[in-house]
Amino acid sequence: MNPLIEIEPIEVEDRDSLKFIAKNITPAFLNSIRRIILMDVPTIAIEDVIVIENTTAIFDEYIAHRLGLIPLNSEIDDLSMIDECPSCEGQGCNMCTVALTLTQETDLNTEKMVYSRDLDPLDHRIYPIQDEIPIMKMGRDQRLILEAIARFGTGREHAKWQPVGTILYRFMPKIKIQPKAKFNKAVLESCPKKNFKVVGDKVEVNEILNGICRDCIKDGFEENSITVEYDPTTIIFELESTGALIPENIVLKASEIFDKKIDSFVETFQEVIYKED
Ligand SMILES: [Zn+2]
Repeated sequence: MNPLIEIEPIEVEDRDSLKFIAKNITPAFLNSIRRIILMDVPTIAIEDVIVIENTTAIFDEYIAHRLGLIPLNSEIDDLSMIDECPSCEGQGCNMCTVALTLTQETDLNTEKMVYSRDLDPLDHRIYPIQDEIPIMKMGRDQRLILEAIARFGTGREHAKWQPVGTILYRFMPKIKIQPKAKFNKAVLESCPKKNFKVVGDKVEVNEILNGICRDCIKDGFEENSITVEYDPTTIIFELESTGALIPENIVLKASEIFDKKIDSFVETFQEVIYKED
């Protein structure tokens, strides 16, 4: 029997990130999860912008593009995907879309920056995650009035719906330092990754979960002093949410989607092979 998958969380400081070690797993399996996160886990983003008035120097299209990239809280479960909407068949209605408005004006004496926090959501649950994302700068005596329509979508359609900024995995390094290793203390101690620690006249492995520094391996040690191998069954997985979804939920949602894909494969496969003529 295959050994059971083990997961060991790694503590991270920022609450938008998630990091864990998975043991007894294959890169192919974890990469499937990674690709489902990138392509299939839905979030909410602005898709259509109705510009009512724009006397600023910035083109409507440019503003719309910037609005599309603002992460919106997507931790809600009662908004349908537009193409699965039971009430409008993809036309867009209040079961599958939500509106946010933006109304900004400057007088003859002031200029101002318009920020993500200036978006006014009709549904208070769907708000910009960050308040201070600059949208544009308005000059004097200008007006901008628009309505933005947001909806669920996936990274398959456009990258703005991807729930993560960074997502990666790396194999667990296995480092062997020879007992009489010759090393360059200055190089090892100047490295920001701090892979190695010099204690007296010895060198020890310090921190390797953030990747191995090639320069330290190449220039920090003399030949035959160190070997680095990688264990493909122990994988460090790391992601950083855009803030639209809670990092743990991103992995759980991806696993659910993975599960559904397998079910649908089995169902179709059975239909085909057991088909009665
Ligand atoms: Zn609808």
